Amino acid sequence: MATQINEELIRSVVAQVLAQVGRAPVVAGRRFTGRHGIFTCVDEAVAAARDAFEQLSERTIEERKGIIKIIRSIAIDNCVELGTMEMNETKIGRLPHKIEKLKTLGERSPGVEFLRSEAFSGDHGLAVVEHAPFGVIGAITPVTHSLPTLTGNAVSMIAGGNTLVVNPHPSGKKVAAEGVRRYNQEIYRQYGIDNLITIIAEPTLDSASAIFKSRGVNLICVTGGPAVARAALNSGKRAVVAGPGNPPVVVDETADLERAARCIIQGASYDNNLLCIAEKEVFVVASVFDKMMDAMERAGAVRLNAKEVDTFTRNAIVQVGEGDHRHDAPSKDFLGKDASVLAKGAGRSVSDKVELLFGETDFNNPFVGVEQMMPFVPFVRVRDIDEAIDKAKEAEHGFRHTAIIHSHNVRNLTRMGRVLDTTIYVKNGPCMAGLGLGGEGYLSFSIAGPTGEGVTTPLTFTRERRCSMIDDLYILGKRNV
Ligand code: NAD
Repeated sequence: MATQINEELIRSVVAQVLAQVGRAPVVAGRRFTGRHGIFTCVDEAVAAARDAFEQLSERTIEERKGIIKIIRSIAIDNCVELGTMEMNETKIGRLPHKIEKLKTLGERSPGVEFLRSEAFSGDHGLAVVEHAPFGVIGAITPVTHSLPTLTGNAVSMIAGGNTLVVNPHPSGKKVAAEGVRRYNQEIYRQYGIDNLITIIAEPTLDSASAIFKSRGVNLICVTGGPAVARAALNSGKRAVVAGPGNPPVVVDETADLERAARCIIQGASYDNNLLCIAEKEVFVVASVFDKMMDAMERAGAVRLNAKEVDTFTRNAIVQVGEGDHRHDAPSKDFLGKDASVLAKGAGRSVSDKVELLFGETDFNNPFVGVEQMMPFVPFVRVRDIDEAIDKAKEAEHGFRHTAIIHSHNVRNLTRMGRVLDTTIYVKNGPCMAGLGLGGEGYLSFSIAGPTGEGVTTPLTFTRERRCSMIDDLYILGKRNV
């Protein structure tokens, strides 16, 4: 025992000294050291992440905290440069929000502080339940927030003691790889472990599938649309699935309409409607429908007339897929583009400062059912709250992702929550309040609806382990020792 402590002490002192002089300790036999997480071969990435996992397993929780602090500070300090890189590469969304998302994920992703143990004590002794890492986690990330999702995943997964193999969306691969390189480089410099986060630099569906199938990957976590959610659920491996949403908003006659309008604009226009939790269609009861439309205009959104809505729908919704799988989808010409670009597609010219377009549609307009991910929101006039809630449920497609209501009627608030049964349910706020941004709670960009983990935290990425002491250590018990 004494020898072990001394060895640990020596190793930690040497690491600290080397860190102070800017050099990481060289570990003999580490095949992938110096790659800083960048790989083209899935098998190599998995092997490097496994190697890193074994090294991380030897470190203390304090060291995990230090490693996560590095990821946080790089995300925060480099948010302008990396956010701009993400905007230039993906060409969707809005630059200030690309920057803000990276900073927010760096600051607020749940870390080591979320870990906890539970204890059960009684006549038969003591049982402690601790949360152990899975090992290597395969993470699939979306184009809508490439480096922010990766950053949040890295913080929470490493906090749980895991390492990652990431298959980013091909259209956001460069910024993701650059972030991974920077994170690993600094972690290696300070802590001597490389490849805690590995990434496939040229990601494809085949590399995603190889990660799903790899025996070296213990868990997968996918964040994306219906296809990847299905693929993960069918992979045969334990999966945390953060799938698609199409969040409906209900506005009833008791709502503060001015506040509802401000909230809908804030949520639906953020990063040009790319958030999976963003307001995608609005159902307003007939008695306040016209007043609500006026409130939206007063709050700064631009209303399209019926002809403009028709023109825009024809231009911005396309058909994709073959045979039975043929369905409506947002056109790439408009997905994530500014409201002023959308307006042109509607035959209208609006200022670059306009954040959101909206217009009245009927329930069958494809904008209601399609997850449009562009700053145009359809408003549907409904008879009463019952019709609003029924239509909202239908438009949400049973994803059970996110729903929003503006109302001061406690029965309506309760009923919608029960009927929609979504992972996130926001009342009288913008969607992001449901992630603790202007509301209570914590943040993650991987919200696991289909598999039930909810807003992911480090505990999501851990296995429960129980350690039982029989007949001893129950210090409150009968004095028989
Ligand atoms: P996408 O589904 O096109 O891609 C997501 C990721 O999955 C990418 O890395 C992509 O390459 C990969 N992928 C796609 N099909 C695959 C398949 N068959 N097998 C393996 N990998 C596959 O989604 P996107 O456009 O990048 O992101 C937007 C979607 O993600 C929206 O539907 C949004 O609701 C959803 N999303 C959900 C959350 C959440 O927390 N639930 C968060 C962000 C985004």
